[in-house]
Amino acid sequence: MTVITRFAPSPTGYLHIGGARTALFNWLFARHYGGKFLLRIEDTDRARSTDDAIQAIFKGLQWLGLDWDDEPTFQFSRASRHVDVAEAMIKAGKAYYCYCSPEELEQMKQHAVAEGRAPIYDGRWRDRDPAEAPKGVRPVIRIKMPKDGETVIHDTVQGQVTVQNAQLDDMILVRSDGTPTYMLAVVVDDHDMGITHIIRGDDHLTNAFRQKQIYEAMGWHTPSFSHIPLIHGQDGAKLSKRHGALGVDAYETMGFLPEAMRNYLVRLSWAHGDDEIFSTQQAIEWFDGSSIGKSAARFDMVKLTSVNGHYIQDASSQRLVDLLTASHPDLNFVQKERMLLGMNGLKQRSKTMVELWESAQLYVWDIPVAYTEKAKPFLANKSLLGQIWDSLSQVSDWLEPSLHEWAKAFAETHSMKLGDVAQPIRAALTGSTVSPSVFEVAAIIGRELTEKRFQHALKLSD
Ligand code: GLU
Repeated sequence: MTVITRFAPSPTGYLHIGGARTALFNWLFARHYGGKFLLRIEDTDRARSTDDAIQAIFKGLQWLGLDWDDEPTFQFSRASRHVDVAEAMIKAGKAYYCYCSPEELEQMKQHAVAEGRAPIYDGRWRDRDPAEAPKGVRPVIRIKMPKDGETVIHDTVQGQVTVQNAQLDDMILVRSDGTPTYMLAVVVDDHDMGITHIIRGDDHLTNAFRQKQIYEAMGWHTPSFSHIPLIHGQDGAKLSKRHGALGVDAYETMGFLPEAMRNYLVRLSWAHGDDEIFSTQQAIEWFDGSSIGKSAARFDMVKLTSVNGHYIQDASSQRLVDLLTASHPDLNFVQKERMLLGMNGLKQRSKTMVELWESAQLYVWDIPVAYTEKAKPFLANKSLLGQIWDSLSQVSDWLEPSLHEWAKAFAETHSMKLGDVAQPIRAALTGSTVSPSVFEVAAIIGRELTEKRFQHALKLSD
């Protein structure tokens, strides 16, 4: 059997972090078994589905590197197929036309509530002769749910889950305006797309009981179900915007790398022993559908940021420069080259691409655009600063090792510690007290720019 999974978002908003995790699980599972990962856009809610949201889903998945197989399916375009299936169910005696008016349904509900019963449809048109249909009323199509017994789902995450059939009403498959309901559309599409495994949020678990009845009524094979726990915020409440439930694009803007997002997201409700940092290839090898936990995972921005820092350190300097400069066409070749040369030193210190971009500015500007409050005191002793530059400017071989050697000699001659020499240089060259090695920075920016920065620092008033 070829494994076929799908991601079936409703395009009513951005691709949020929960959706991204669901897509990732389906993608990993399909790739693990050498199967297919399909994309279905559930755009049947015409009022709320937007083209922008569809584009955001495509873009978000592409950014995350979750490539889907075949062309995406658009659910709305398949409405006539959904209705055909409902009509086939009527022919097979598994569904029926119901002519209840909204007033009748309302009364039914009120009676049920008054008698302390669940307000579910009472099945009054189930066995009634359609010849009795009132004139001019457009019917809905309802499924004939089994009245007795129970429906059992063998969920790979939730275990065996059972519901009494008496609790399942004869739900509507096609509305009186001829449009199929979500419940019908999902089952028909999953069947027609050959979906073998459904992995989705556990907010859909109760739908699974109803959907199973449609599969059975049609004599179709029911796919395997895995209902994964939703993602919660640090406070244990369902993830909301407040907790970071933003669109995937927001994480790109905040400076996260896609491979870090994949690594972080896969660990939400899934584990491989105690492994925390592992490649996507490794995740594909491990992700066989087992080891998905039942309890809700907590979204932890601090942890995501630390995972991201790891991936930034691991990334090639050229890729980081390309990513950083893609949206800055104004940078010239020399600035980019300096950034590239300095990237190894910079990436050790940055946990997001935003931080990395900020720290890389020292290779962009001619003189520091600002000096931090901590840096200023190191520039106060102008006579020392002048002495340092006078001596430093004599170094003939302007390379990191020689600059380092010069500093050691200068420190010794002046009975200073190396750090006491390095810190004023750092403040003058970077405007800060934290940076990669100052000798590396000086070597990369070159003698001329080093001089320019010194001259500028020497003129600063205290
Ligand atoms: N369209 C549904 C959603 O976005 C998913 C349906 C499903 O996975 O069965 O929540």
